Amino acid sequence: MAEVKEIINLVKGGLNKKEEELVRKACTFAKNAHEGQKRLNGDPYFIHVFETAKILAKLGMDAETIVAGFLHDVLEDTKITAEEMKKEFGENIVFLVNGVTKLGTLKYHGDERHVESLRKFFVAMTNDLRVVIIKFADRLHNLRTLQYIKEDKQKRIALESIEVYAPLANRLGMGKLKGEIEDAAFPYAYPKEYAQIEEIIKEKRSLYEKNLEEIHRELEKELYKNNVKVIEVNYRLKHRYSLWKKLLKYDMDIEKLNDIIALRVIVENIEDCYKVLGIIHSIWRPLPGRIKDYIAVPKPNGYRSIHTTIFTGSGGVAEIQIRTQEMHAEAAYGVAAHFAYKEKKKNKTDNDEKSKFKWIEELKNFNYELDNPKKYLEHLKTDFFNDRIFIFTPKGDVIDLPEDSSPVDFAYSIHSDVGDHVAGVKINNKMVPIISKLKNGDIVEIVTKKDAHPSSKWLEISKTNIAKKNIRSYLEKNSLLSKLKSFGRS
Ligand code: MN
Repeated sequence: MAEVKEIINLVKGGLNKKEEELVRKACTFAKNAHEGQKRLNGDPYFIHVFETAKILAKLGMDAETIVAGFLHDVLEDTKITAEEMKKEFGENIVFLVNGVTKLGTLKYHGDERHVESLRKFFVAMTNDLRVVIIKFADRLHNLRTLQYIKEDKQKRIALESIEVYAPLANRLGMGKLKGEIEDAAFPYAYPKEYAQIEEIIKEKRSLYEKNLEEIHRELEKELYKNNVKVIEVNYRLKHRYSLWKKLLKYDMDIEKLNDIIALRVIVENIEDCYKVLGIIHSIWRPLPGRIKDYIAVPKPNGYRSIHTTIFTGSGGVAEIQIRTQEMHAEAAYGVAAHFAYKEKKKNKTDNDEKSKFKWIEELKNFNYELDNPKKYLEHLKTDFFNDRIFIFTPKGDVIDLPEDSSPVDFAYSIHSDVGDHVAGVKINNKMVPIISKLKNGDIVEIVTKKDAHPSSKWLEISKTNIAKKNIRSYLEKNSLLSKLKSFGRS
């Protein structure tokens, strides 16, 4: 049986006596509340809430969040009432559990209701980010036990995780969680592609690793000579799903990718980061245009690190990332790192915190003036997700497309039959020209006609491979047909 001690030991910096007691109590409480309930794989239901709490502990969350992790399904799935929970655990915990319960599923239904569910999600996030982080942990464990669920449901949950949860985790700077969600969902969302990636990794992995070990050895020697105090040098293999996404951009040619495995150098302070960069460049020649200083200019989600790609000498290239320990934790845990390292937060000014998550602040402030959901969505649409846009069907399903996609891309991502017969398009209930660009959050309705067909112009306006492929194949088939027809006539 799962042991609460395991979770307590995972908490960075440890728990105080009171906190430990609370976590133990929540564990026992959840076990009793879910007594007799089973999951589809036959496991006691308690295993699910235990694992959720464990993920939260690993993320470095505080005691209250771990407690709420244990209790997150109690109000929804057992007879225990909010009143009883409040008596046992206090108002804060009930607030968190209620938040998770209300958040429910992120699936969007219906025209107006999707605005409502997005709004709910963002409101939860701005009220207390911990609610959203518990939801992430809950989803991650559900993804990891997806094999026991019906196939069509598997696929829906997996796609939803990739399309909605992962971008949100990324936006919160939680790179590790984002990667874990995507990798857990990948085999169910895109089974064929997943198998393909596994094959590629199997083939290349040992070669890359050998290459990096050599660099690692030489680098450590040089750093030692130069008196740089190194906290850790390690490497990471790119997550499967993001590897696939990247390969798609490079015609599936693995040789064009430089960052399948990256070496990470973790040092004490920012000066040392730049010193290490200098040392690296004095040993190996850097690839032009591949030096990225995300310390001086952090990514919008707060990510900081220096990246460089070097020629290794044996004909290969390798990416090296240089960062401090704090940056390392932030890159993995994002906003959650601020709970894990809250004791260090004291010497930071309030201003630091605010500027880093300015967009959360903005969402929060906007919340207060909220009267009109349309206006609210309008506001959220502006660059919340980096390079993807989320388009809604009139029924409220979400379609994930690259930025600047056209209605044609949208039509083909629904079905090739829809794409092949686009006659007109309505965006947010207004007829617009087919060359219009889609914007995040648009509700798009395609008007089809039997005699409407792709034209070569569509190739210019489409962004996705699936649209281009379909249009080309239609055009080819058709020019062949018309040639045959004109033969017949003459
Ligand atoms: Mn759950």
